Amino acid sequence: MREGHNSVLIIEDEADIRQLLRTLLEREGYAVSEAIEGRDGVRQFHQSHPDIVILDVGLPDLDGWQVLERIRDMSDAPVLMLTALSTERDKVRGLNAGADDYLTKPFGKVELLARLQAISRRQVNNKDLVTTFDDGTLHIDFAHQEVTVDGNPVVLTPTEYRLLATLARHQGQVLSSDQLIELAWDDPSGLAPSRVKYAVLRLRRKLGWDEGDDAPIETVRGFGYRYRSRSR
Ligand code: CA
Repeated sequence: MREGHNSVLIIEDEADIRQLLRTLLEREGYAVSEAIEGRDGVRQFHQSHPDIVILDVGLPDLDGWQVLERIRDMSDAPVLMLTALSTERDKVRGLNAGADDYLTKPFGKVELLARLQAISRRQVNNKDLVTTFDDGTLHIDFAHQEVTVDGNPVVLTPTEYRLLATLARHQGQVLSSDQLIELAWDDPSGLAPSRVKYAVLRLRRKLGWDEGDDAPIETVRGFGYRYRSRSR
């Protein structure tokens, strides 16, 4: 682990656990940064691009699942989830949502370090992993946040990008306006669902997709929105 001085972002609201993690990790040569809330954690993640994230499930604003989803919209950086409860259901949920591993509190030092080393190794082996969405029409490069439609680059605002990335990652699933607000907006508090409607309209216009029977971003009346590939 000493090679490269890996950086770790800890997103955890409990001061005791943050301090414990910081002490352990710094002793092992990691560069440690901390966030005590989910939203700040996402912000710091985008600013500092840490090598590894340790993410608590129970956070005061966005919960760990929402934070994970936002991180995964942009990055495949390894994420170790922390939880107070060890249930098989949570574990499956975490791994399905793109967590790399799972640790139940209270945890021992040896176990923590072993998990971190394992996920860092896996990351090195996965360096060539393709982090793109491509259905023949829409291409999204998640690492660089670049979007092309039929080969033409499209310039999007950060919210429009996250909206599109979220819909594409949930291809075929209907997402409600409330879900999209939680997943795509920086500050979802107090936003009316009509914001989603207008953002979708702008997004379709920028992508050159007017709503029609085969529009890739489909309005499902009374439920929400769905991305579906046109080319299949
Ligand atoms: Ca917590």
